[in-house]
Amino acid sequence: MATTTIETALSAALRERGQRVTPQRLGVARIIGRADRHVTAEQVFDEVGELMPGVSLPTVYATLELLRELGLVERVPTEGGAVVYDARMDDHHHLVCRRCGAIADVETDIGTAELMDAARAAGFTPLTTQVVVRGLCADCARA
Ligand SMILES: [Zn+2]
Ligand SMILES: [Zn+2]
Repeated sequence: MATTTIETALSAALRERGQRVTPQRLGVARIIGRADRHVTAEQVFDEVGELMPGVSLPTVYATLELLRELGLVERVPTEGGAVVYDARMDDHHHLVCRRCGAIADVETDIGTAELMDAARAAGFTPLTTQVVVRGLCADCARA
């Protein structure tokens, strides 16, 4: 998603909630919007902190969660409980290494219609699907 779009959407949502539109909050949106990889809140915190000192980790967490509520970023299930965010919002799937925790997108156009159908049959209203393949990354498999 273009950086300006994600910042504009965040500003509108903050105003709607009566929260202040601060440079720090916009900085979080800018960093995650231009990240072409999967990032943790701590990584976003470090990068925003370099641009604008005074940002706090709770602000970063809260802003990322607001962006997630708005459907602008997604969380990737990980090993070990790290919370990893992804600004790529087209349906795509992930490879997660059980040893080192590396996360990579996997490009395939498998249909998820059957999965969505099964979800509906269980009384669930599906919005998105994300398949996670767990195993060993190439580096860990060699080791
Ligand atoms: Zn690995
Ligand atoms: Zn991804």
